[in-house]
Amino acid sequence: MRSFTYLRPATPAEAVEAIADGGPGTRLLSGGTTLHDLMKLGVEAPLTIIDITHLDALAQLDTSGPEELVFGALARMSDAAADRRLQQDYPALSEALSKAASQQLRNMARLGGNLLQRTRCAYFRGGDAFPCNKRAPGSGCAARDGVDRGNALLGASDACAAVYPGDWAVALAAFDAVVDTLSPRGERSIPLLDLHREPGSTPDVETTLAPDELIVRIRVPRTQAGRASTYHKIRDRESYAFALTSAAVAVRLSAGVVAEARVALGGVATRPWRSPEAEDVLLGQPLTEDVAQRAGQAAFAAATPGTHNTFKVELGARTVADALMIARQRAGE
Ligand SMILES: Cc1cc2nc3c(=O)[nH]c(=O)nc-3n(C[C@H](O)[C@H](O)[C@H](O)COP(=O)(O)OP(=O)(O)OC[C@H]3O[C@@H](n4cnc5c(N)ncnc54)[C@H](O)[C@@H]3O)c2cc1C
Repeated sequence: MRSFTYLRPATPAEAVEAIADGGPGTRLLSGGTTLHDLMKLGVEAPLTIIDITHLDALAQLDTSGPEELVFGALARMSDAAADRRLQQDYPALSEALSKAASQQLRNMARLGGNLLQRTRCAYFRGGDAFPCNKRAPGSGCAARDGVDRGNALLGASDACAAVYPGDWAVALAAFDAVVDTLSPRGERSIPLLDLHREPGSTPDVETTLAPDELIVRIRVPRTQAGRASTYHKIRDRESYAFALTSAAVAVRLSAGVVAEARVALGGVATRPWRSPEAEDVLLGQPLTEDVAQRAGQAAFAAATPGTHNTFKVELGARTVADALMIARQRAGE
């Protein structure tokens, strides 16, 4: 049994002071569905746990604002997924939540913690038996010469090819979301696409957050493309599984052609992945099946598959194309 210090600060400001005081072995606790999991596996062994679950100031959920949608870091996944306005105006955001994990997990898990979930790479989670640069920097990467079915095709490095597993961050990436944070140095805003790092030579450093930084909320600017959007998720079984491939897409059509296109990919990259290549193919074109397929292929033009994950190039391209056909239908075309 490993002992740790348990703290329950009264305010977000107290929480960030406590993280700073606690040092590198400190973890925040929101829903606990990632943290407890990794503690049980022995991958994480925090010395101090700071429980923030009761901080109602972080639980805001407002999808009615004229300029932006606001999701507090402690809003529950299930509450956001069930929000009627979100389902109607931004189906991609709602579907990314409702297709993740299970109802029980979504009832526990919070939106801020969700962004910071860690890879499901079996070698990362498998413990000391396997070298893993993410878990034990400098130890190597067992996945490179091992079973690489789950490895990333985009954004990988020699040190690490572990996939970012979450769904919600992928949908947020398509909508230019911004993450507001608080630390002892004050507040700042980080574009969602800058929150997660590619592994490079330091795969253990997964985000651009400082160790003493708390996610306060996520904001999504309003866009007309929200209604014609979808989160299309392909997995080994239809429920309660991580994405093999996924695509968050949104379009706005004008005079029969694509006037605005948003495409982000999940299950295939080391971080939530936006695809300007696919968007470029779509812009100014009628949204036909042929154009959608070409957009899907463009999204994977730079893919670097290994041995067991080559199938994801074709599957990923088709996922994008199918998602675009769903979006077209929702655009009323
Ligand atoms: C069996 C299983 C299946 C799953 N399937 C899916 C799936 O299909 N798709 C999917 O997307 N996810 C899936 N998940 C992951 C799940 O969505 C995450 O575990 C969950 O969203 C994490 O949220 P949490 O509130 O429980 O985070 P916690 O476990 O409480 O925290 C996670 C991390 O974030 C940090 N943290 C928490 N809140 C903050 C904050 N406000 N600011 C800064 N740091 C913070 C914590 O210190 C910790 O390091 C699955 C999980 C399990 C266990």
